Amino acid sequence: MVADRLDVVAVRIEDVGGVVLRGVLRAEAGGAVVRSSCGDRRDVERVDGGALVTLERDVRPADRAATPDPEVESVRIRQVRECVRLLVHDAVAERLQRPQIEGLRGLEVGDVDGDVRERHSGSFRSVQSPRMILENGVVRTMDPSLPTTRALAIAGEYVAGGVGTHERALPSPEVVDVGGRCVLPGFTDSHVHFPTWSLTRREVELEGTSTLGEAVERVRSHPRHGTWIRGYGWRSADWDEQPTANALDAVTGDTPALLFSKDYHSAWLNSAALARAGGDLDVDGGVVERDESGAPTGILREESAWQFRARVAMPTEDEFVDATREGLRIAAGRGVVAIHDKDGWLGAPGVFQRIASRDGLTLRVWQSVPYERLPELAALGIHSGIGDDFLRIGYLKAFMDGTLGSQTAWMLDGSGVTITDGEELAEIVREGARLGWPVAVHAIGDRANREALDAFETTRHLWEPLGLRHRIEHAQCLAPEDVARFSALGVACSVQFSHAPSDRDLAERFWPEELDGAYAFRSLWDSGALVANGSDAPVEELDPLAGIRAGVRRTIDDRPAWQPEQCLTVEETLLATIVNPTWLTGDERRRGKLLPGYLADLVVLSRDPIDCTVDELETVEVVATMVGGRWVHNPPPWD
Ligand SMILES: [Zn+2]
Repeated sequence: MVADRLDVVAVRIEDVGGVVLRGVLRAEAGGAVVRSSCGDRRDVERVDGGALVTLERDVRPADRAATPDPEVESVRIRQVRECVRLLVHDAVAERLQRPQIEGLRGLEVGDVDGDVRERHSGSFRSVQSPRMILENGVVRTMDPSLPTTRALAIAGEYVAGGVGTHERALPSPEVVDVGGRCVLPGFTDSHVHFPTWSLTRREVELEGTSTLGEAVERVRSHPRHGTWIRGYGWRSADWDEQPTANALDAVTGDTPALLFSKDYHSAWLNSAALARAGGDLDVDGGVVERDESGAPTGILREESAWQFRARVAMPTEDEFVDATREGLRIAAGRGVVAIHDKDGWLGAPGVFQRIASRDGLTLRVWQSVPYERLPELAALGIHSGIGDDFLRIGYLKAFMDGTLGSQTAWMLDGSGVTITDGEELAEIVREGARLGWPVAVHAIGDRANREALDAFETTRHLWEPLGLRHRIEHAQCLAPEDVARFSALGVACSVQFSHAPSDRDLAERFWPEELDGAYAFRSLWDSGALVANGSDAPVEELDPLAGIRAGVRRTIDDRPAWQPEQCLTVEETLLATIVNPTWLTGDERRRGKLLPGYLADLVVLSRDPIDCTVDELETVEVVATMVGGRWVHNPPPWD
């Protein structure tokens, strides 16, 4: 709809140890106003012609049709007015809630309450922070009530205002000419193995090898450093010959070699590496491939591969810190302001902590820990969210099954590998809920996803009242009847748009009967599920713009879109990469949008992706990145 009668569009409130006003947005005459998307789950009061209308309050789409009870509404309207008044009195009197105060400064409160405006304009001048105004570009707030503004004011770490900002209220601000470019809230990568990805950037790159010989040649010609040859990215499904230890031995000699497959669920070892395991390769949930004589061929899958690495071939923390520091620079250059990391099992918290204390982090980390560590967390009394604005331990990670590429996805036809079954996951979810932890569970096959959904359903009465935000990672192959269950349960799908075009050939080959529910991003979106996008780097490159293109185009070569009915729009892919991930970290009222009081985490793009044709998306580039009001990539001026 277009704003005509809407004078104030939205009053945002938040309960942080008392009620705090986040901001008031005005509509521009003739400006577009859209309803909150399915990714928006928070308190918003919409104001229409001076009357407050409840829009939604942490509801799922299925609940939206319900007509609000007018009596309840009038109570809520009074509550909002009261909130506004209380905020101004209390916050100013006690000098509390400085972020929220900064968020308000410079904003004109519209018709909600004349009393507020008066107090407001006289009260917030004394807060001291660096001030900046970005102007002369398209600022996309990602807030449906007011999608674009022409300028953005930043005070300290926070967005101070957009529309309605009185620049005079920001004494001597630094003014940045955006030069017609586009400003968006920064990207989140919702599924990344960050230290591992950082390290793989230094390893033998085996991606794109189409024969065994080509892979072996790359190992031979790669410069050596360290005591191991490490490599990554092979996918042998289409190779003429399958990889073996013998094939590697010819070029590696006695240096141990450990080469992970592209999906990271298989490892290819040479004889020197196998020897280091001392014959101890078989583990629960793992596969050791053997020849006719019973000798290992050099291929380990699932737990066997991971435990070999953990036991015999772990990179040192120094190695990880070094590589991750460089990885952070690259991520900043790609507009990434936050990640949901999956490397908790191999010491990522310590790696990030070392970097944070020495140089500071340039993105915000929401860290996984293996669910197996729950007893230790319980013993220490640690709950989800411990940490600070840059590094928090957030969620437990579990695995239902393997992957498509390794043919270890757990399928309803009985094939694949079971790492955790539904009953076991239910127990994990139960125990997690008891101790205040949400669960992220890897599920690729349709059986794995069904059992995971079953587990969340049978435990719902325990975790739902706690507001725990669970997630299924990948959700790659779904029985069509399971698609709507994500939304019904309030369990998020953490998917990777890039996987669809990368995996299309394998999916058609291994899942010919299951394609209807494979990489079903549009179906999931339309069902009202919360869809968050990630790269799964190093499985795909850590590059949100590439993920956005993949979600929109569903092709990465000259072929037409794969399953074009499952394509998403640019707006939807942006929501999945910017806004929706913040719900998973409980930050949906402080990050992911360029609204007053939100953290100033943003990316400057060379052009507005929403104003592009699908083909032009390729030309959109990251110009600069800001995290918490500080430029972390390519500070201005530009040109
Ligand atoms: Zn992953």
